[in-house]
Amino acid sequence: MSTKGKVIKCKAAVVWEAGKPFSIEEVEVAPPKAHEVRIQVIATSICHTDAFNIDPNFKKGVFPVIVGHECAGIVESIGPGVTNFKPGDKVIPFFAPQCKKCKFCLSPRTNICGKLCDFKTPTADQKLMEDKTSRFTCKGKPVYHFLGVSSFSQYTVVSDVNLAKIHDDANLERACLFGCGFSSGYGAAINTAKVTPGSTCAIFGLGSVGLSAVIGCKVAGASRIIVTDINNEKFTRAKALGATDCLNPRELDRPIQEVIIEMTNGGVDFAIECIGGYQHMRAALDSTSVGGGTCTLVGVKAGDKALDVSPEELIMGRTLNATFFGGWKSVDSVPKLVNDYMNKKFNLDLFVTHNLPFDQVNEAFDLMNQGKSIRTILTF
Ligand code: NAD
Ligand code: ZN
Repeated sequence: MSTKGKVIKCKAAVVWEAGKPFSIEEVEVAPPKAHEVRIQVIATSICHTDAFNIDPNFKKGVFPVIVGHECAGIVESIGPGVTNFKPGDKVIPFFAPQCKKCKFCLSPRTNICGKLCDFKTPTADQKLMEDKTSRFTCKGKPVYHFLGVSSFSQYTVVSDVNLAKIHDDANLERACLFGCGFSSGYGAAINTAKVTPGSTCAIFGLGSVGLSAVIGCKVAGASRIIVTDINNEKFTRAKALGATDCLNPRELDRPIQEVIIEMTNGGVDFAIECIGGYQHMRAALDSTSVGGGTCTLVGVKAGDKALDVSPEELIMGRTLNATFFGGWKSVDSVPKLVNDYMNKKFNLDLFVTHNLPFDQVNEAFDLMNQGKSIRTILTF
């Protein structure tokens, strides 16, 4: 029986209040409106960004909400005006839209989309759909969307500019990683830092973003890739991906930047910060060489001290930049990344430490918060 045009009742993980655990509920998902697509989520992974948006310390959280933004699924139905998708297509939704019409989308210099540029409205924050309403209802109450994706629901509705069709044979339990972590870290090295052949790199933090940055440095031809993490268990995976030197800051008697500067005779060509927070941004910038070093920021930590940079540091020939979704124009680029994965350019199995049924979403967050997982894949 077709569900097109009808409300779908399905399972979702709702957060009713900041700091409260996920509650598995039956939600109602309204049909897609103009330029919207309703998709069946097949696999979703979890990311730190989900956790900090429901943390009581993050003051901008809205509730009740369905978070989750790293997933892959299948189109169930399309709204009026949708031309690029049809039911049955395998798709990945993104928090990074690409409308292909605004001045940013028309520029080759950025992957920011005009749809995101006015963060004062709920639709630019992507907490509501374009018409400023939600497609989710639970116990008679509207439930907020999250980053335009809301993947912790068996069905979700997304804008057609936040969605890409991927290869029909793609494995959705791996392809979901392209929705955030992999694309952001890999692109940080390739597109934002623009790592060059023969260069020396340092990657701070080896979560899925940092490990993906290691892959990016390797693919770009870096000859030395120094990695840091406080968890020695991460080093085996990093070495398998191309890391050459592993440093645990807790086992050093000096600040990590001093050690890196000494190891590299004055600093690295590229430092990529994949943890988040003042101390790590500072260490990454300090580790770059004068006369050409580039420091790229990926990590974000809500409420932490901002990075203070003196002109002299940059005058001496350092570059400081940061990445949004790895610099990829999402709709155009991610299907190609999925093809690269299918052609065995990179092995994503190393990222998946746990597979759990969706109902165990709270356990999946515990694993992440205890540093036991890299990525947990949840399936419905
Ligand atoms: P993660 O928590 O899985 O990984 C962080 C890693 O840093 C862990 O391995 C942890 O052990 C390590 N670490 C913690 N403290 C450390 C220290 N003092 N020294 C060395 N290593 C340390 O997170 P993730 O999913 O890989 O994401 C990394 C960061 O990137 C987060 O801040 C996330 O919000 C951010 N992010 C940004 C973008 C973007 O577009 N800019 C996209 C995705 C994620
Ligand atoms: Zn993410």
